[in-house]
Amino acid sequence: MNADLHCHSTVSDGQFSPAEVAARAQANGVTLWSLTDHDQLGGQREAREAAASLGMAYRPGVEISVTWAGKTVHIVGMNVDPDNAQLQRGLESTRNGRAARGVAIGEALAAVGIPNAFEGALRYTDDPDMISRTHFARYLVEAGYARSASDVFARYLGDGKSGFVGHRWAKLADCMKWIREAGGEPIIAHPGRYDFTPVQFAALFDEFIQMGGKAIEVVTGSHTPDQYREYADVARRYGFEASRGSDFHGAGEGRVDLGKLPPLPDDLTPVWQRWL
Ligand code: AMP
Ligand code: MN
Ligand code: MN
Ligand code: MN
Repeated sequence: MNADLHCHSTVSDGQFSPAEVAARAQANGVTLWSLTDHDQLGGQREAREAAASLGMAYRPGVEISVTWAGKTVHIVGMNVDPDNAQLQRGLESTRNGRAARGVAIGEALAAVGIPNAFEGALRYTDDPDMISRTHFARYLVEAGYARSASDVFARYLGDGKSGFVGHRWAKLADCMKWIREAGGEPIIAHPGRYDFTPVQFAALFDEFIQMGGKAIEVVTGSHTPDQYREYADVARRYGFEASRGSDFHGAGEGRVDLGKLPPLPDDLTPVWQRWL
């Protein structure tokens, strides 16, 4: 089983269409796949149909932006019904404000000598309501302000940097309710990415469990190999099921390609074990 349960298409901040991501996943040996665009279900039909025609098992997914303890946390909703009206409304309200935030990011960057970044970022997406820092990062690299996307985040767009604009995303409790009502299961995405103290991490995991959460990502393209081990230990301590996904956005972006991840540690329970 080569499961890749986290990646992005042009529907959010990926470089390839859902069908192109499907083809790349299959070519890379993925046998169980989920497309998890940010706050958007618009690619689910195309992804499911492409996976079916390639003979690859598919699970609908979405990656929801949440604000918890003043910081952004991502929750993957796996096995959600893409037609669920409450989930769709919740995601729409979460997307609301991305365009205004994008304008504000553009103004913040202009103030440090980078003009027209909003217009530049918009060239990388068809939908201003989906404008994300990834689109800004692509533009800043293209325009020569940085060498790579991670360089852009380190210098301009990361938490507290000159182009960073705080934003209030969905509440954790609401996000959990939307996923549950849509028949899905929540998974904490790339916990290693969050800048929390040990006490905050413990509070996040406890709250997540109290709200019905059972799983975290362990092996993800958004973790370093050290973090694979660190969050495997977290999964053992809290009794979490483990998920695996590349968080692929595009060729030459991110640490790993679709399906090209090490397996989960043997003693962990994969989220997909119950589905088979
Ligand atoms: P947003 O939802 O607009 O805040 O954008 C968040 C997106 O930026 C994430 O989904 C990643 O695709 C990307 N991102 C965040 N941090 C980094 C980083 N350090 N390097 C590259 N991409 C990043
Ligand atoms: Mn992204
Ligand atoms: Mn994420
Ligand atoms: Mn992601």
